[in-house]
Amino acid sequence: MSDPTARIPATLIAGDGIGPEIMEATLAALDALGAPFDWDAQTAGLGGVQACNDPLPPATLDSIRRTRLALKGPLETPVGGGYRSSNVRLREEFKLFANLRPALTVIPGGRFDKIDLVVVRENLEGLYIGHEHYVQIDGDPHAVAMATGINTRAGCRRILEYAFEHAIATGRKKITLVHKANIMKALTGIFKETGEQLYEEKYKGRIAFDTVIVDACAMKLVLNPWQFDVIVTTNLFGDILSDLVAGLVGGLGMAPGANIGADAAIFEAVHGSAPDIAGQGIANPVALMLAAAMMLEHVGHLDKARRLRQAIDATLNIDKVRTGDLGGKAGTAAFTQALVARI
Ligand code: NAD
Repeated sequence: MSDPTARIPATLIAGDGIGPEIMEATLAALDALGAPFDWDAQTAGLGGVQACNDPLPPATLDSIRRTRLALKGPLETPVGGGYRSSNVRLREEFKLFANLRPALTVIPGGRFDKIDLVVVRENLEGLYIGHEHYVQIDGDPHAVAMATGINTRAGCRRILEYAFEHAIATGRKKITLVHKANIMKALTGIFKETGEQLYEEKYKGRIAFDTVIVDACAMKLVLNPWQFDVIVTTNLFGDILSDLVAGLVGGLGMAPGANIGADAAIFEAVHGSAPDIAGQGIANPVALMLAAAMMLEHVGHLDKARRLRQAIDATLNIDKVRTGDLGGKAGTAAFTQALVARI
Protein backbone atom coordinates (compact mmCIF):
# COMPACT_ATOMS: atom_id res chain seq x y z
CA MET A 1 0.00 0.00 0.00
CA SER A 2 1.49 3.29 -1.00
CA ASP A 3 -0.80 5.38 1.23
CA PRO A 4 -2.05 3.51 4.31
CA THR A 5 -4.64 6.21 5.03
CA ALA A 6 -6.26 6.10 1.56
CA ARG A 7 -9.93 5.20 1.43
CA ILE A 8 -10.81 2.14 -0.65
CA PRO A 9 -14.15 1.98 -2.50
CA ALA A 10 -15.80 -1.41 -2.08
CA THR A 11 -19.16 -2.92 -2.92
CA LEU A 12 -21.25 -4.33 -0.09
CA ILE A 13 -23.92 -6.97 -0.62
CA ALA A 14 -25.56 -7.96 2.66
CA GLY A 15 -27.21 -10.99 1.06
CA ASP A 16 -30.20 -13.13 1.95
CA GLY A 17 -31.34 -15.09 5.02
CA ILE A 18 -28.78 -14.59 7.81
CA GLY A 19 -26.77 -12.32 5.46
CA PRO A 20 -27.92 -8.97 6.92
CA GLU A 21 -27.36 -10.21 10.50
CA ILE A 22 -23.80 -11.44 9.96
CA MET A 23 -22.98 -8.45 7.72
CA GLU A 24 -24.08 -6.01 10.46
CA ALA A 25 -21.80 -7.86 12.88
CA THR A 26 -18.88 -7.80 10.43
CA LEU A 27 -19.32 -4.10 9.69
CA ALA A 28 -19.30 -3.37 13.43
CA ALA A 29 -15.94 -5.18 13.67
CA LEU A 30 -14.55 -3.37 10.61
CA ASP A 31 -15.73 0.00 11.97
CA ALA A 32 -14.06 -0.69 15.30
CA LEU A 33 -10.83 -1.44 13.43
CA GLY A 34 -11.06 1.76 11.39
CA ALA A 35 -11.06 -0.26 8.19
CA PRO A 36 -10.46 1.88 5.07
CA PHE A 37 -13.48 0.82 3.01
CA ASP A 38 -16.00 3.26 1.53
CA TRP A 39 -18.99 1.01 1.05
CA ASP A 40 -21.36 1.11 -1.87
CA ALA A 41 -24.35 -0.98 -0.71
CA GLN A 42 -26.03 -3.03 -3.44
CA THR A 43 -28.42 -5.97 -3.68
CA ALA A 44 -28.31 -9.40 -5.33
CA GLY A 45 -29.92 -12.82 -4.98
CA LEU A 46 -33.40 -12.86 -3.49
CA GLY A 47 -32.82 -9.27 -2.31
CA GLY A 48 -32.17 -8.25 -5.92
CA VAL A 49 -35.34 -9.97 -7.11
CA GLN A 50 -37.38 -8.23 -4.39
CA ALA A 51 -35.81 -4.82 -5.12
CA CYS A 52 -35.88 -4.86 -8.92
CA ASN A 53 -36.84 -8.30 -10.16
CA ASP A 54 -33.25 -9.21 -10.98
CA PRO A 55 -30.97 -11.49 -8.88
CA LEU A 56 -27.97 -9.60 -10.21
CA PRO A 57 -29.11 -6.01 -10.91
CA PRO A 58 -27.10 -3.89 -13.39
CA ALA A 59 -26.37 -1.37 -10.60
CA THR A 60 -24.64 -4.12 -8.60
CA LEU A 61 -22.55 -5.17 -11.58
CA ASP A 62 -21.67 -1.52 -12.32
CA SER A 63 -20.63 -1.02 -8.71
CA ILE A 64 -18.26 -4.01 -8.74
CA ARG A 65 -16.90 -2.94 -12.15
CA ARG A 66 -16.03 0.38 -10.54
CA THR A 67 -14.71 -0.82 -7.16
CA ARG A 68 -13.30 -4.21 -8.31
CA LEU A 69 -13.74 -5.28 -4.71
CA ALA A 70 -16.72 -6.68 -2.80
CA LEU A 71 -17.77 -8.17 0.51
CA LYS A 72 -20.78 -10.36 -0.01
CA GLY A 73 -23.27 -12.19 2.21
CA PRO A 74 -24.84 -15.47 1.07
CA LEU A 75 -27.21 -15.28 -1.89
CA GLU A 76 -30.24 -17.41 -2.59
CA THR A 77 -31.20 -18.28 -6.11
CA PRO A 78 -35.01 -18.03 -6.31
CA VAL A 79 -36.53 -21.39 -7.19
CA GLY A 80 -38.61 -21.24 -10.38
CA GLY A 81 -38.58 -18.25 -12.71
CA GLY A 82 -35.55 -19.66 -14.56
CA TYR A 83 -33.01 -17.54 -12.66
CA ARG A 84 -29.36 -18.52 -12.92
CA SER A 85 -27.30 -18.51 -9.73
CA SER A 86 -26.06 -14.99 -8.93
CA ASN A 87 -22.86 -16.49 -7.55
CA VAL A 88 -22.10 -18.32 -10.79
CA ARG A 89 -22.92 -15.21 -12.82
CA LEU A 90 -20.61 -13.09 -10.64
CA ARG A 91 -17.79 -15.59 -11.20
CA GLU A 92 -18.31 -15.52 -14.95
CA GLU A 93 -18.81 -11.76 -15.22
CA PHE A 94 -15.64 -10.87 -13.30
CA LYS A 95 -13.61 -13.90 -14.41
CA LEU A 96 -13.17 -14.94 -10.78
CA PHE A 97 -11.02 -17.92 -11.70
CA ALA A 98 -9.57 -18.66 -8.25
CA ASN A 99 -11.57 -19.69 -5.21
CA LEU A 100 -9.37 -19.53 -2.15
CA ARG A 101 -10.56 -21.38 0.92
CA PRO A 102 -8.24 -21.37 3.90
CA ALA A 103 -8.89 -23.79 6.76
CA LEU A 104 -7.28 -22.67 9.98
CA THR A 105 -7.98 -24.02 13.44
CA VAL A 106 -9.44 -21.15 15.47
CA ILE A 107 -10.77 -23.18 18.37
CA PRO A 108 -8.04 -25.51 19.67
CA GLY A 109 -8.62 -28.90 21.21
CA GLY A 110 -11.00 -30.33 18.63
CA ARG A 111 -10.66 -33.63 16.83
CA PHE A 112 -8.28 -32.01 14.35
CA ASP A 113 -6.02 -29.48 16.01
CA LYS A 114 -3.59 -26.96 14.52
CA ILE A 115 -4.89 -27.21 10.98
CA ASP A 116 -3.52 -24.56 8.62
CA LEU A 117 -4.08 -25.33 4.97
CA VAL A 118 -5.51 -23.67 1.90
CA VAL A 119 -7.58 -25.11 -0.92
CA VAL A 120 -7.22 -23.24 -4.21
CA ARG A 121 -10.11 -24.24 -6.44
CA GLU A 122 -10.39 -23.51 -10.15
CA ASN A 123 -13.65 -21.61 -10.35
CA LEU A 124 -14.64 -21.26 -14.02
CA GLU A 125 -13.98 -24.49 -15.92
CA GLY A 126 -14.29 -28.26 -15.47
CA LEU A 127 -17.55 -30.10 -14.99
CA TYR A 128 -19.29 -27.00 -13.62
CA ILE A 129 -19.67 -25.16 -16.91
CA GLY A 130 -23.29 -26.29 -17.13
CA HIS A 131 -23.13 -28.12 -20.47
CA GLU A 132 -25.68 -30.78 -19.54
CA HIS A 133 -28.55 -32.45 -21.26
CA TYR A 134 -30.81 -35.46 -21.28
CA VAL A 135 -31.42 -37.94 -24.10
CA GLN A 136 -34.89 -39.37 -24.62
CA ILE A 137 -35.12 -43.11 -25.26
CA ASP A 138 -38.30 -45.17 -25.54
CA GLY A 139 -40.51 -42.34 -24.30
CA ASP A 140 -38.38 -41.67 -21.21
CA PRO A 141 -37.21 -38.04 -21.60
CA HIS A 142 -34.56 -38.52 -18.93
CA ALA A 143 -33.29 -41.94 -20.01
CA VAL A 144 -29.71 -40.68 -20.33
CA ALA A 145 -28.05 -37.70 -18.67
CA MET A 146 -24.93 -36.20 -20.18
CA ALA A 147 -22.49 -33.56 -18.97
CA THR A 148 -19.46 -32.10 -20.68
CA GLY A 149 -16.45 -30.80 -18.78
CA ILE A 150 -13.98 -28.37 -20.27
CA ASN A 151 -10.50 -27.64 -18.96
CA THR A 152 -8.25 -25.50 -21.10
CA ARG A 153 -4.46 -25.34 -21.04
CA ALA A 154 -4.70 -21.57 -20.49
CA GLY A 155 -7.27 -21.96 -17.68
CA CYS A 156 -5.16 -24.64 -15.95
CA ARG A 157 -2.03 -22.53 -16.25
CA ARG A 158 -3.82 -19.43 -14.88
CA ILE A 159 -5.04 -21.14 -11.69
CA LEU A 160 -1.83 -23.12 -11.16
CA GLU A 161 0.32 -20.02 -11.58
CA TYR A 162 -1.94 -18.17 -9.15
CA ALA A 163 -1.63 -21.02 -6.62
CA PHE A 164 2.18 -21.16 -6.88
CA GLU A 165 2.56 -17.38 -6.64
CA HIS A 166 0.13 -17.09 -3.72
CA ALA A 167 1.77 -20.00 -1.89
CA ILE A 168 5.26 -18.55 -2.28
CA ALA A 169 4.14 -15.01 -1.36
CA THR A 170 2.47 -16.26 1.83
CA GLY A 171 5.45 -18.39 2.94
CA ARG A 172 3.88 -21.78 2.26
CA LYS A 173 6.14 -24.80 1.89
CA LYS A 174 4.33 -27.22 -0.40
CA ILE A 175 1.70 -27.38 -3.14
CA THR A 176 -0.28 -30.57 -3.76
CA LEU A 177 -2.01 -30.84 -7.12
CA VAL A 178 -5.16 -32.98 -6.87
CA HIS A 179 -6.47 -34.76 -9.97
CA LYS A 180 -8.10 -37.91 -11.30
CA ALA A 181 -5.89 -38.35 -14.35
CA ASN A 182 -5.88 -42.14 -13.99
CA ILE A 183 -9.55 -42.23 -15.08
CA MET A 184 -10.41 -38.82 -16.58
CA LYS A 185 -7.22 -38.86 -18.60
CA ALA A 186 -7.91 -35.84 -20.77
CA LEU A 187 -10.11 -33.64 -18.56
CA THR A 188 -7.96 -33.80 -15.46
CA GLY A 189 -4.81 -35.08 -17.18
CA ILE A 190 -4.34 -31.64 -18.76
CA PHE A 191 -4.43 -30.07 -15.28
CA LYS A 192 -1.79 -32.47 -13.93
CA GLU A 193 0.42 -32.19 -16.99
CA THR A 194 0.23 -28.37 -17.00
CA GLY A 195 1.08 -28.25 -13.29
CA GLU A 196 4.08 -30.55 -13.69
CA GLN A 197 5.39 -28.52 -16.65
CA LEU A 198 4.88 -25.23 -14.85
CA TYR A 199 6.72 -26.50 -11.79
CA GLU A 200 9.75 -27.59 -13.88
CA GLU A 201 9.67 -24.33 -15.80
CA LYS A 202 9.23 -21.75 -13.04
CA TYR A 203 8.88 -23.02 -9.50
CA LYS A 204 11.29 -25.93 -8.92
CA GLY A 205 13.55 -25.14 -5.98
CA ARG A 206 11.22 -22.40 -4.71
CA ILE A 207 8.54 -24.60 -3.15
CA ALA A 208 7.89 -28.36 -2.80
CA PHE A 209 5.34 -29.94 -5.15
CA ASP A 210 3.55 -33.26 -5.37
CA THR A 211 0.46 -34.70 -7.01
CA VAL A 212 -2.24 -36.94 -5.55
CA ILE A 213 -5.39 -38.60 -6.87
CA VAL A 214 -8.57 -37.04 -5.44
CA ASP A 215 -9.91 -40.15 -3.70
CA ALA A 216 -6.58 -40.78 -1.97
CA CYS A 217 -6.48 -37.09 -1.07
CA ALA A 218 -9.86 -37.30 0.67
CA MET A 219 -8.65 -40.23 2.76
CA LYS A 220 -5.32 -38.59 3.60
CA LEU A 221 -7.09 -35.38 4.62
CA VAL A 222 -9.06 -37.30 7.22
CA LEU A 223 -6.18 -39.54 8.39
CA ASN A 224 -3.45 -36.89 8.49
CA PRO A 225 -4.43 -33.41 7.29
CA TRP A 226 -1.17 -31.94 8.60
CA GLN A 227 0.73 -33.42 5.63
CA PHE A 228 -0.97 -30.81 3.39
CA ASP A 229 -0.16 -27.14 3.00
CA VAL A 230 -1.71 -25.77 -0.22
CA ILE A 231 -4.00 -27.92 -2.34
CA VAL A 232 -4.75 -26.82 -5.90
CA THR A 233 -7.42 -28.59 -7.89
CA THR A 234 -10.12 -28.43 -10.53
CA ASN A 235 -13.61 -27.02 -9.97
CA LEU A 236 -15.63 -30.06 -8.84
CA PHE A 237 -12.90 -31.62 -6.69
CA GLY A 238 -12.19 -28.21 -5.15
CA ASP A 239 -15.83 -27.72 -4.26
CA ILE A 240 -15.92 -31.03 -2.41
CA LEU A 241 -12.49 -30.91 -0.75
CA SER A 242 -12.95 -27.35 0.48
CA ASP A 243 -16.07 -28.36 2.40
CA LEU A 244 -14.15 -31.33 3.77
CA VAL A 245 -11.40 -29.06 5.09
CA ALA A 246 -14.02 -26.66 6.50
CA GLY A 247 -15.26 -29.66 8.49
CA LEU A 248 -11.76 -30.17 9.92
CA VAL A 249 -11.86 -26.74 11.56
CA GLY A 250 -15.34 -26.63 13.01
CA GLY A 251 -17.73 -26.46 10.09
CA LEU A 252 -19.23 -23.88 7.81
CA GLY A 253 -19.63 -21.17 10.46
CA MET A 254 -15.82 -20.86 10.53
CA ALA A 255 -15.02 -21.07 6.80
CA PRO A 256 -14.25 -17.96 4.72
CA GLY A 257 -13.64 -17.81 0.98
CA ALA A 258 -12.24 -15.42 -1.57
CA ASN A 259 -13.05 -15.35 -5.26
CA ILE A 260 -10.14 -13.78 -7.05
CA GLY A 261 -10.17 -12.80 -10.69
CA ALA A 262 -8.62 -10.73 -13.38
CA ASP A 263 -11.28 -8.03 -12.99
CA ALA A 264 -12.31 -8.12 -9.31
CA ALA A 265 -12.06 -9.89 -5.96
CA ILE A 266 -15.14 -10.90 -3.97
CA PHE A 267 -14.94 -12.06 -0.37
CA GLU A 268 -17.62 -14.15 1.35
CA ALA A 269 -18.41 -16.85 3.89
CA VAL A 270 -18.49 -20.34 2.42
CA HIS A 271 -21.87 -21.10 3.97
CA GLY A 272 -25.26 -20.25 2.50
CA SER A 273 -28.14 -18.11 3.73
CA ALA A 274 -29.17 -20.60 6.46
CA PRO A 275 -32.93 -19.99 6.05
CA ASP A 276 -33.60 -22.33 9.01
CA ILE A 277 -32.11 -19.82 11.47
CA ALA A 278 -32.55 -16.52 9.59
CA GLY A 279 -34.02 -13.66 11.62
CA GLN A 280 -33.39 -15.35 14.96
CA GLY A 281 -30.21 -13.46 15.82
CA ILE A 282 -28.25 -16.66 16.46
CA ALA A 283 -26.07 -16.95 13.34
CA ASN A 284 -22.31 -17.22 13.71
CA PRO A 285 -20.68 -14.22 11.98
CA VAL A 286 -17.10 -15.59 12.22
CA ALA A 287 -16.88 -16.96 8.66
CA LEU A 288 -17.83 -13.59 7.18
CA MET A 289 -15.49 -11.80 9.60
CA LEU A 290 -12.65 -14.08 8.49
CA ALA A 291 -13.57 -13.26 4.88
CA ALA A 292 -13.30 -9.56 5.83
CA ALA A 293 -9.83 -10.31 7.27
CA MET A 294 -8.85 -11.85 3.92
CA MET A 295 -10.18 -8.73 2.19
CA LEU A 296 -8.05 -6.51 4.44
CA GLU A 297 -5.02 -8.66 3.57
CA HIS A 298 -5.89 -8.40 -0.12
CA VAL A 299 -5.72 -4.60 0.01
CA GLY A 300 -2.51 -4.64 2.05
CA HIS A 301 -3.91 -3.78 5.50
CA LEU A 302 -2.13 -6.68 7.16
CA ASP A 303 -2.09 -5.13 10.60
CA LYS A 304 -5.86 -4.62 10.69
CA ALA A 305 -6.38 -8.16 9.41
CA ARG A 306 -4.16 -9.51 12.18
CA ARG A 307 -6.04 -7.50 14.82
CA LEU A 308 -9.35 -8.82 13.55
CA ARG A 309 -8.10 -12.42 13.66
CA GLN A 310 -6.71 -11.89 17.16
CA ALA A 311 -10.02 -10.41 18.36
CA ILE A 312 -11.92 -13.43 16.95
CA ASP A 313 -9.45 -15.77 18.65
CA ALA A 314 -9.69 -13.97 22.01
CA THR A 315 -13.49 -13.81 21.94
CA LEU A 316 -13.84 -17.51 21.18
CA ASN A 317 -11.00 -18.90 23.28
CA ILE A 318 -10.32 -16.51 26.17
CA ASP A 319 -13.77 -14.99 26.72
CA LYS A 320 -15.35 -18.24 25.55
CA VAL A 321 -18.17 -16.33 23.93
CA ARG A 322 -19.51 -18.59 21.17
CA THR A 323 -22.65 -18.97 19.09
CA GLY A 324 -24.86 -22.05 19.21
CA ASP A 325 -23.26 -23.85 16.24
CA LEU A 326 -20.02 -23.89 18.27
CA GLY A 327 -21.75 -25.18 21.39
CA GLY A 328 -22.09 -21.73 23.00
CA LYS A 329 -25.08 -19.69 24.10
CA ALA A 330 -24.30 -16.27 22.63
CA GLY A 331 -26.46 -14.68 19.96
CA THR A 332 -24.95 -12.79 17.04
CA ALA A 333 -25.22 -9.42 18.80
CA ALA A 334 -23.67 -10.61 22.09
CA PHE A 335 -20.82 -12.26 20.20
CA THR A 336 -20.23 -9.08 18.20
CA GLN A 337 -20.27 -6.91 21.31
CA ALA A 338 -17.66 -9.15 22.98
CA LEU A 339 -15.54 -9.14 19.82
CA VAL A 340 -15.64 -5.37 19.38
CA ALA A 341 -14.50 -5.03 23.00
CA ARG A 342 -11.44 -7.10 22.04
CA ILE A 343 -10.41 -4.85 19.12
P1 NAD B 1 -26.40 -23.25 4.43
O1 NAD B 1 -24.92 -23.13 4.45
O2 NAD B 1 -27.17 -22.01 4.30
O3 NAD B 1 -26.88 -24.01 5.74
C1 NAD B 1 -26.45 -25.32 6.11
C2 NAD B 1 -26.63 -25.51 7.63
O4 NAD B 1 -25.58 -24.77 8.29
C3 NAD B 1 -27.95 -24.97 8.18
O5 NAD B 1 -28.39 -25.81 9.20
C4 NAD B 1 -27.57 -23.60 8.73
O6 NAD B 1 -28.39 -23.18 9.78
C5 NAD B 1 -26.15 -23.82 9.19
N1 NAD B 1 -25.36 -22.59 9.07
C6 NAD B 1 -24.86 -22.03 7.93
N2 NAD B 1 -24.22 -20.90 8.19
C7 NAD B 1 -24.31 -20.72 9.53
C8 NAD B 1 -23.83 -19.69 10.42
N3 NAD B 1 -23.12 -18.65 9.97
N4 NAD B 1 -24.11 -19.81 11.73
C9 NAD B 1 -24.80 -20.86 12.20
N5 NAD B 1 -25.27 -21.86 11.42
C10 NAD B 1 -25.02 -21.79 10.09
O7 NAD B 1 -26.74 -24.26 3.23
P2 NAD B 1 -28.14 -24.56 2.51
O8 NAD B 1 -29.22 -24.63 3.53
O9 NAD B 1 -27.85 -25.72 1.64
O10 NAD B 1 -28.37 -23.32 1.58
C11 NAD B 1 -29.31 -22.27 1.85
C12 NAD B 1 -29.32 -21.29 0.70
O11 NAD B 1 -28.03 -20.66 0.58
C13 NAD B 1 -29.60 -21.90 -0.66
O12 NAD B 1 -30.47 -21.03 -1.37
C14 NAD B 1 -28.24 -21.95 -1.34
O13 NAD B 1 -28.33 -21.88 -2.74
C15 NAD B 1 -27.58 -20.71 -0.78
N6 NAD B 1 -26.10 -20.76 -0.77
C16 NAD B 1 -25.44 -19.62 -1.06
C17 NAD B 1 -24.05 -19.59 -1.01
C18 NAD B 1 -23.33 -18.31 -1.35
O14 NAD B 1 -23.95 -17.30 -1.59
N7 NAD B 1 -22.02 -18.30 -1.36
C19 NAD B 1 -23.34 -20.73 -0.63
C20 NAD B 1 -24.06 -21.88 -0.30
C21 NAD B 1 -25.44 -21.89 -0.37
